[in-house]
Amino acid sequence: MHRWFSALCCFLCLTLSALAQAKNNNDLVQDASAAQLPKLEKFDPSIVDKSKNACVDFYLYTCSNWIAAHPIAPDMAVTSTSRPLFLYNQTILRNALDAAGANKQATGSERQIGDYWRSCMDEVTRNANGKAWLQPHLSTIASLKSSKDLPRVLAHLHQNFPAAWLMWNDDDNYAKAPIFGFGPAQDLADASKMVAGIDQGGMALPSLDYYLNNSEQSKELRGKYLQHIQKMFELAGDSSGKAAAEAKVVMEIETALAEASMDNVTRRDPKKIYNKLNLQQLKAAVPDFGWDEYLQFMGTPSVPFYIVSTPGFLGAVEQQIKTRSAQDWQAYLRWWAIHRGAPYLGNDFEQANFDFFGTALSGTPQMLPLWRRCVASTDHYLGEALGQAYVTVAFPSESKQRANELVTQIRQSLVEELKQLDWMSEQTKKQALVKQSATLQKIGYPNTWRDYSSAKIVSDNYLANMNAANAFEAHRQIDKIGKPVDRNEWGMTPATINAYEDPQMNTINFPAGILQLPLFGENQDDASNFGAIGMVIGHETIHGFDDQGRKFDAKGDLRDWWTPEDTRRYDEKDKCIVDQYSQEIPEFGVKQNGYLTAGEDTADNGGIHLAMLALEKDYKAQGKSMDTPEADGLTARQRFFLAYAFSWCADVRPEAARTQVLSNPHSLPHFRVNRPLSNMPEFQQAFGCKDGQPMVHNPECRVW
Ligand SMILES: [Zn+2]
Repeated sequence: MHRWFSALCCFLCLTLSALAQAKNNNDLVQDASAAQLPKLEKFDPSIVDKSKNACVDFYLYTCSNWIAAHPIAPDMAVTSTSRPLFLYNQTILRNALDAAGANKQATGSERQIGDYWRSCMDEVTRNANGKAWLQPHLSTIASLKSSKDLPRVLAHLHQNFPAAWLMWNDDDNYAKAPIFGFGPAQDLADASKMVAGIDQGGMALPSLDYYLNNSEQSKELRGKYLQHIQKMFELAGDSSGKAAAEAKVVMEIETALAEASMDNVTRRDPKKIYNKLNLQQLKAAVPDFGWDEYLQFMGTPSVPFYIVSTPGFLGAVEQQIKTRSAQDWQAYLRWWAIHRGAPYLGNDFEQANFDFFGTALSGTPQMLPLWRRCVASTDHYLGEALGQAYVTVAFPSESKQRANELVTQIRQSLVEELKQLDWMSEQTKKQALVKQSATLQKIGYPNTWRDYSSAKIVSDNYLANMNAANAFEAHRQIDKIGKPVDRNEWGMTPATINAYEDPQMNTINFPAGILQLPLFGENQDDASNFGAIGMVIGHETIHGFDDQGRKFDAKGDLRDWWTPEDTRRYDEKDKCIVDQYSQEIPEFGVKQNGYLTAGEDTADNGGIHLAMLALEKDYKAQGKSMDTPEADGLTARQRFFLAYAFSWCADVRPEAARTQVLSNPHSLPHFRVNRPLSNMPEFQQAFGCKDGQPMVHNPECRVW
């Protein structure tokens, strides 16, 4: 993705990041038989822990029995009610890949996904040849004799390894590519134009805190990181003496870049990262880097200006280029090639990479089984080829239609809510309604599937396949520069269990992968659907109006369409949420910064509110009461809240929880449930909660 700042919801981002890092050949989940689809979770009233008080901790009331019965698997950083859905989605993809891989007559995208899959699954070849596969890249790096060669070698890495253009991930800290991030970006001032952007980057740890924080825990992790870098150099064939010296250089360069980087709270303000520099200014900022060569190697068209997220960062890049030897740069770039290549080589590389990024950083003891790593990888690189098979099995047109209706109903709640807001002027309301109606809602999968035919995929070299798929994507991204924006493009693959709002495209996007149980079922009762997926839909809808989203207009331009008085009132209301979520989390030894999570927390609070309004309207239209017990003994209102909480039930390893709190703009699941509900009188009414109880927050925070 090429967005400048976070637009995605990151539903269950913990689970997702655990998957992204995951691996190993230990089939812990007992799901090797390809055709067997696991049973999906669904809220069931008998799961509730009646020994807990709903008004003291609703999350534990809903989730503690479920969590106790579903311990975190050794290959995961988290357990959650969506875990069976991950397995379900991945099993469907696996079946499609097995079939494609076995079909000797396969052509086109079927052959591509089949070959990619086989190259990943073939551990024997990977173990035998992985180290040799890396050699051409290391030779390219060895050809760097002075800083004059840096643009060429850097462009080689930016094209062949992830992911210079990925300027946000599931967080918004920096590009996880060597030296800096580079790619297309929608112009913040004119969203119809795709321009070029340069982002801070060059650091492999998850966020600046890991480099700069002086706590004992951080120092210890940095010690482990240094050892890890050294180990990776050794695996690539360096002596331990050389590897130790190289690791030290890498750490120095990454730390210097971290010191000059903008923190993730400041980056939430789009204006702060919108700095236009023309080529001459860019050259003046980093005179010792050959920009012309770099841009030429990257295949970038000539553009009037570049958006630079952190001008001060460029000073640090210049300082490093000016003072570092060719040998230092070789060490630093070798690290990035080995680090980014590791998951695509033999077991030794993959395991060492996991030991640090999976275990030390996320606390996950074991890699996921090989087949699941390979499914995730194929989905990542060839997702729209693979996604067609997924949709055929898991997302019939009836589901698409029902999901589309739900999104429409919930957006209608926002329209009605906006019209009767007492704190917003008529003038701003009018603009908000224009923006709302201009939002494009996308459900399930793209209208036209991406054509990967120019990516050269082979059956027996996994690293080369990743390089080819990466180069395909790099080219596809760079090619957007200077061209009109395509609002119909998807930033997630169809089988993804997530959703996102894109403020510059002004779209909300719900892949087929999340439109499944326990979140959504075409035949699931309305209260459960509205509580679970309805909240996610409301969440994305509100993102267009959270602390970031509200700064963009209907066209997606960064333009202040709020009166100063409305802005003041918004900030005042949002401050209540910021304060509510700014908290010590003693069990994990970290403090949550409510400003970092403000956008997501606002979207959670508004999202559940919109979903409730839509359900109320739905019940009213059917002449039914939300407060009369139904067949299972629960009122619709109670089931709505229970289904919501149930969809977030999760247990998180402490390491992963700490990483999440420090580097991710999403609150932990426990807070994503309890905090919004404690602001809702509808919740207190449904469960008979009284003033002074923990689930009754005073004051009631509310923006939307
Ligand atoms: Zn979100």
